[in-house]
Amino acid sequence: METVNIYINVSFPIPIDKEFTYSIDTTVETKTLIGSRVLANFNRRKMIGVITSLLKDKPDYRVIKIDRIIDPKPVFNEEMLLFCKWISKYYLSSFGQVLKQALPTALYGKIDRFIEGNINKIKYLNYITPILPLPEKIFSKRINEFIDFLLENTIGVSQKEIKEIYNFSDHIISKAISLGLCKKVKKEDIRLSTIMTESINDAVKFSLTEEQDHCVNEIERSIDKNIFDTFLIYGLTGSGKTAVYIEAIKKVREKKKTVIVLIPEISLTPQTVKRFREVFGDEVAVLHSRLSEGEKYDSWRGIKANKYSIVIGPRSAIFAPLDNLGLIIVDEEHESAYKQSDPSPRYNARDMAIVRGKLNKIPIILGSATPSIDSFHNASTGKYSLLELTKRIGRAKLPEIVIVKRKQFYQIFEDSVIESLREELDQGRQIIVLQNRRGYSTHLVCESCGSVSTCPNCSVSLTYHLHSKQLICHHCGYFEKAKDYCGICGKSNISFKGTGTEQVAFELSKLFPDTKILRMDQDSTRKKESHFKILREFENNKSSILVGTQMIAKGLDFHNVSLVCIVNVDTELIFPDYRSDERAFQLITQVSGRAGRGEINGRVLVQTYSESNHVLEYARKHDYIGYIKNELENRELAGYPPFAKMAKIMFSSKIYEDMKRSSLELYKLLIDQNKKLIVYKPVDRMVLKVNNIYRMNVIAKTNSEYDGNGNILRSAIKNAFRSFKVKSNVKVSIDIDPLEVI
Ligand code: ADP
Ligand code: ZN
Repeated sequence: METVNIYINVSFPIPIDKEFTYSIDTTVETKTLIGSRVLANFNRRKMIGVITSLLKDKPDYRVIKIDRIIDPKPVFNEEMLLFCKWISKYYLSSFGQVLKQALPTALYGKIDRFIEGNINKIKYLNYITPILPLPEKIFSKRINEFIDFLLENTIGVSQKEIKEIYNFSDHIISKAISLGLCKKVKKEDIRLSTIMTESINDAVKFSLTEEQDHCVNEIERSIDKNIFDTFLIYGLTGSGKTAVYIEAIKKVREKKKTVIVLIPEISLTPQTVKRFREVFGDEVAVLHSRLSEGEKYDSWRGIKANKYSIVIGPRSAIFAPLDNLGLIIVDEEHESAYKQSDPSPRYNARDMAIVRGKLNKIPIILGSATPSIDSFHNASTGKYSLLELTKRIGRAKLPEIVIVKRKQFYQIFEDSVIESLREELDQGRQIIVLQNRRGYSTHLVCESCGSVSTCPNCSVSLTYHLHSKQLICHHCGYFEKAKDYCGICGKSNISFKGTGTEQVAFELSKLFPDTKILRMDQDSTRKKESHFKILREFENNKSSILVGTQMIAKGLDFHNVSLVCIVNVDTELIFPDYRSDERAFQLITQVSGRAGRGEINGRVLVQTYSESNHVLEYARKHDYIGYIKNELENRELAGYPPFAKMAKIMFSSKIYEDMKRSSLELYKLLIDQNKKLIVYKPVDRMVLKVNNIYRMNVIAKTNSEYDGNGNILRSAIKNAFRSFKVKSNVKVSIDIDPLEVI
């Protein structure tokens, strides 16, 4: 075949939104080149980029050749390219950066690895997998230990890891193989984590309630007509939303179309995933943030090869390369986990689901027991169709919420609360305790001189961790050994202020010494799969009390939980950001939803110093709509979203003065742009310094009445940046539709 010389435009994952032209000798039909990765020289480095367009004519400037095309078939089809382009424009991110986000990291792997071999062939290690069922323990002590290890790792572990991390020698491994306990798996095996391989039961069969039926019918109409429509399902926890999703997916599958289901954090909602797998079996691919790079790549490849028709995953699953998309579901749509904070693009997957839905002319389902104020507003203005599930399934009733005024300052639990906990335990019931701070104590104060233990690198106090006896910074990771005297005055008069989960669990173990207490927070779930272990233990009634941070507030469905206790709700309520009330309400409602899901009635005890707070009053009455209406009035008065389009421009630098000067310069450029733009003077972030870097924000906004899609806001920012010259030691980044402004 004849080779031709053509000119291609490549987008690289760099912060500059520009295509770069190269030439290439090729026999491939030119149309199929777009969307493929290439390796090219860029800025005297080898870099992976994506061909995003072709040039018809020879350019009048010097063009170099690319090294080579990496993909025989494009990794992006036209739909994905359009979608990514849209994201880049909306979030003021570069096209190349969005494309990088849309692929598994392995495909943008280290260049040296790429040059050595072919990045498409990730090196597969020797995997050791057990041969089940494993025999009773009859071997030597070490082999018996190895059997235990195998039982805990039925999906297989690489031999290297077994040696280096678990300390079993090659000798033990060979012995185990010769005894028929395990085998080596060498071939390019699709690695699946437990969540995919765990045994599942048959799906429970039931007929839908009238309300569920209505939801499904409405959605089915859009599915049949192939039209874009956004449905907001507002349904109490346990009202049967998941069942509605499943029915809607069935309808889509009848038409041979595919589905994306977004879930905020899969490890926290294994039960939901299990339900999908029970119905759809091998059609389902589950992505989650704790998969290894290789595992993520494997799943991506499987999806791309049409092996799966349903993809369940966290926010990045919105980029799942499914063909013939028929429906996108966003569960717990209010969750802030859908918003990416770093790196750029700082996208919100919930909002991008709607964009991808529009591009594909398909329906979108957003579901929540506590819809975000934005989505609720969109439903009331008719932009979304509101569907409601007002009753819990079966006999389960909403729990009674009791506000408990704090009186006993020196106790973690009020006496009346301790009494209630004891009663439930005596009846063999389970309890969930929420404390949204980890560690033992959030700051240590010297009672003699008043000084507080602070991080040398950040403007925050250090948290005391009892387990490691260390003071740890939750921002930069700095740690030091805790001392029992003050570092400033030397006196031994330290008091522990600010309760964390560790202290709550410790206190409970003193109050109820015969009860096993489980703790679930970032510290207790560092190891892969540890989430599942803790949840499984609680599910199997091996423990009666589960203490945790907001991690425990999500979709757990334990029928024996009769009591939920929120240790200190005030830390959520006093947080000085415009969305903190909304978040506090959602947290209270979500965690309350864990109580009384079965036959027993649930109760929620909320400890607070501000018992007359209006958020608590609405929460007590389960009056979410009332709360939202009230909050919408406040937002409108203050000019906050959904009544404003907002952008946060973030400055950071090691030199405070330089940062301040830059932010003031941009501020001045912005106010000159457009009279319709409201710009606030630069302010220090609430935590000013992290890791010795100072941080500051400039907030700009427009009224959504005349700038509904934010175009005025974005073009003003783009214009201002054209004449903005920032010092090289100051970093500037943009966050469109920020969830936090402080
Ligand atoms: P949500 O997603 O709103 O929390 P689920 O769909 O998980 O609610 O439903 C709660 C429980 O009720 C689940 O155990 C589910 O299997 C069951 N369920 C849902 N719909 C029905 C129904 N129509 N009839 C009987 N049980 C149902
Ligand atoms: Zn720090």
